[in-house]
Amino acid sequence: MFTDYFNRFSWQEVQADILAKTDADVRRALQKDRCDLEDFKALISPAAAPHLETMARISQARTLKRFGRTIQMYVPLYLSNECQNICTYCAFSLDNQIKRKTLTDAEILQEVQAIKAMGYDHILLVTGEANQTVGVPYLQHAIQLIKPHFAHISLEVQPLDQTDYETLIAEGLHTVLVYQETYHAAQYKRHHPKGKKSNFQYRLETPDRLGKAGIHKIGVGALIGLEDWRTDSFFTALHIHYLEKIYWQTKYSVSFPRLRPIEVDKAGQSQVQEFHSYMSDRELVQLISAYRLLNDTLEISISTREQESFRDNIIKLGITSISAGSKTNPGGYSVAPESLEQFEVSDERSADEVASMIRKQGYEPVWKDWDAAYDFRHQ
Ligand code: SF4
Repeated sequence: MFTDYFNRFSWQEVQADILAKTDADVRRALQKDRCDLEDFKALISPAAAPHLETMARISQARTLKRFGRTIQMYVPLYLSNECQNICTYCAFSLDNQIKRKTLTDAEILQEVQAIKAMGYDHILLVTGEANQTVGVPYLQHAIQLIKPHFAHISLEVQPLDQTDYETLIAEGLHTVLVYQETYHAAQYKRHHPKGKKSNFQYRLETPDRLGKAGIHKIGVGALIGLEDWRTDSFFTALHIHYLEKIYWQTKYSVSFPRLRPIEVDKAGQSQVQEFHSYMSDRELVQLISAYRLLNDTLEISISTREQESFRDNIIKLGITSISAGSKTNPGGYSVAPESLEQFEVSDERSADEVASMIRKQGYEPVWKDWDAAYDFRHQ
C-alpha cells in the first residue's frame, strides 16, 4: 500500500528540500530528457520561476510528441448533493443548510439528453458521500442507465472498497478520480473533521484498491489552497510514481483544482465564502510544465474552476483534457438549473464555444477517446 512508502517521507523535510533548490538544480533538470522526483522538486521550487518560459516550451513540445494536437472533452454530471461529511471548503458539506437533491432515474435521463445535445461522449459522474441514498447500488444503477449513451464513464464519489470497484467496473466504469485534497495529515483532519472522509489513510489507499480492482484510469490530485501547494504537489507526484510502478496496466491523470468561492448557509444566513488560492497563474503554469517534464504520458486536466483567459492560454502548454459548459449542481443542465452549486464556475462558456477556441489554436477537441470494443474485460 502507498501508506508504507508515504510514511518514509516527512512533510517538513520535503518542504525544506524544495525551498532549498537552487538555480543550478533547475538548470540541471532542464537539460535532462527524463526528470526524476528530485528534479521535480527543483522545477516546482521558487528557483524555477525565472525559467518559466523554457519550462513551458519543453512541456509544449513533449505534450505534442505524446498526445498530438488534441484536447479531450469531458463534462461532469452531478447526481446528488447529499453528503454526510463536513469539508470546510465545500458547499455540499453536512453543516451547510441547503436544499438536498438526488436525481431520479427520469431526471438522470433528462440530464443525459441535455449533455448529449452538447456533443459529449465522456461523462464524469459526481456525488457527495451519503451511503443511504447514493451508495454502491445507486451508482451501479446510474451507470446501467447512462452506459448506453456514453463511450467513457468516469466517477468522482466517496472512496470505496476494492469489491465495490470491481462491481462498478463490471457495469462499465472506466475511470475514477480520487483527490487526496492534501497530503498533510494534520491539515487534512482540520478540513475534514466529521464523516467517513476524515479517515486520511483510507483515502490515501484508495488508488491502491482501484489498481487492484483493475480500473482503466485513475485520476489523483491535491486541492490547491489547503496547504503549501509545492509540497502537496511533490506528494501527488510521488503517489503517481508509486502507482505507475505497481499498477502499470492503469493510466493516470492529474488535476490541481484551485479553491473557488462557495455559497454557505450555516444558520439561515446565506453568504459567499472566499478562499485565498495561494497560487498565481504563473505558478500554475510552472506546475503544469513541471509535471510534463517529469512524466511524458501523464494526462493533465483543467476544469471550469479556472478563468476563461487562463484556460485559453494553457491549451498548448501541457494539458490534455478540459471540461466545458459544466454545471456543478444536481439537475443543473435541465432539471433544476437554479439549485445550489458545489462551487462557482469561472469559465461560463458553452461546450461549443470552448471547442471552437480549441480549434482556433490548431488543436482538435476530442469528444470520444474510448470505445467499449477496446475493453478486453468485457469481451
Ligand atoms: S467535498 Fe465531497 S465529501 Fe466533502 S462535503 Fe463536498 S461533496 Fe461531501
